Amino acid sequence: MNLGFYGAAKTVTGSNHMIEAAGKKILIDCGMFQGHDRQEEINFEAFPFNVSEIDAVILTHAHIDHSGRIPKLVKDGFSGPIACTKATADLCGIMLPDSGHIQETEAEWKSRKRSRAGKSAIEPLYTYDDAVASLEYLAPYRYDTMIELFEGITIRFRDAGHILGSAFVEVWVKEGEEETKIVFSGDIGNKNMPILKDPNFIADADYVVMESTYGNRLHKINENKVEKLLDTIKRTIRRGGNVIIPSFAVGRTQEIIYELHKYKDKYKEDLEFLSRVPVYVDSPLAISATEIFRQNLDCYDEEARMYVSNGDNPLDFPGLKFTRTADESRELNEKDEPMIIISASGMCEAGRIKHHLKHNLWRKNSTVLFVGYQAEGTLGRRIIEGAKKVKILGEDISVNAEIESIEGYSGHAGQDGLIEFIENFETKPKKIFIVHGEIEAQKTFSKLIKETFNIDTVIPERGDLYELTAGEVSFTTGQPELKKRFSRLELLSKLDVLQEELAYLSAHADKEFINEKTDQEVADLQKKFENLEKMMDSVKAVID
Ligand SMILES: [Zn+2]
Repeated sequence: MNLGFYGAAKTVTGSNHMIEAAGKKILIDCGMFQGHDRQEEINFEAFPFNVSEIDAVILTHAHIDHSGRIPKLVKDGFSGPIACTKATADLCGIMLPDSGHIQETEAEWKSRKRSRAGKSAIEPLYTYDDAVASLEYLAPYRYDTMIELFEGITIRFRDAGHILGSAFVEVWVKEGEEETKIVFSGDIGNKNMPILKDPNFIADADYVVMESTYGNRLHKINENKVEKLLDTIKRTIRRGGNVIIPSFAVGRTQEIIYELHKYKDKYKEDLEFLSRVPVYVDSPLAISATEIFRQNLDCYDEEARMYVSNGDNPLDFPGLKFTRTADESRELNEKDEPMIIISASGMCEAGRIKHHLKHNLWRKNSTVLFVGYQAEGTLGRRIIEGAKKVKILGEDISVNAEIESIEGYSGHAGQDGLIEFIENFETKPKKIFIVHGEIEAQKTFSKLIKETFNIDTVIPERGDLYELTAGEVSFTTGQPELKKRFSRLELLSKLDVLQEELAYLSAHADKEFINEKTDQEVADLQKKFENLEKMMDSVKAVID
């Protein structure tokens, strides 16, 4: 069996691996590169393999960084089955068309900008219609059943507890007399998350391809996250403001609805006045996703199922309202009564949340409550870091609202969860391929695996190819040009980030800031800037 790496190698996004076995070529995930502009360019390049030779795709879960290039794959000529769980197929049914819509809007926007500069228009990566057309290849299966994908290739999905429908994939390959088992972790979930079951465990494998997003980080344990959520809401409502919660449409939004449902139940008597506060879910994708959660009850954990069997929908409660149309959304900003608005996108970069921020950030009595990670360079990150003024939809908005953030909601296992995943193997794998992580996280995690389990690890690069048998692994050259291209794009990404950080510095380290500093602090800063200058000089020397 050959194992090739084409995405999420030494980076987090763009998951895309290939096994070549028993005469078949099978992709595991076909995700989009996201976040760094430069890496996003890869999405537009031709796939580094012959698409018409691919026999099947196995999809671990619906997140766009795992599924987002499926419409492109189909557009480019793929016509085999895309094996996944039922909930994953359901979620792809809304997330891929939504992604197609975003691709079209972005291409339109960029084309308009380019036409002003006298440049030609650009095509979207794929359209809404392309995405809809790709859905017919989804082949939904149940968890925990053996699926003979092709002769000699059997797979099984196990619950990964990461998002609804997410799976670890076990793959058994029989070539001649020899059987080799490889496991793809997809993304590994967290324990004790609302609604979802805890991650399952895998008993044995010869090889594992494993994510490492938090390979160097433990999550802060936040026992009081529900209390903090409730306190923030209470406080804000009492002073007559709105609570604005920017949230990912799929997953986090449903978790928050679930928590609110649970609490409304629990604190019914003493917080009666709160039951009159409407909670609006204002994101068409989030509304459709909530519907899909309601249709996949078998994915729920025991607690969530208990509500269902008592005839209570855990994703509904009196006061919960959904606003599907843009008009309904706009009307929210004209209402006087205090309310809670959950809206996407989670990092405030796009979508309806921008309108709600525009109408609430300047209000002293409102609160913006973050419940998810805010990546560098996003509007959410700037607000959380204490920006006094932000630009939204072309307008300068003062930040007067209370800004709160609750940690402890994460779809990804922390370092301890990743270690536990390996610990649970009764027969330990011979080798672990570490993917889906920033390089620092991967290095730390690789070292930890060696120290803890004495298992060999590999951190593959994009374009690497390995030959695996049940007994051993050998490295073949693969496609070194992909590697070269990737490291060059990575360097350009670093430059972009640096540029952003410098802009941030010069915006924040203004006269007022410097004047407030003590002499010692100023001296320290001066030293740091001198060092920075020296480093810049040495980089410039290379470029000149
Ligand atoms: Zn994911």
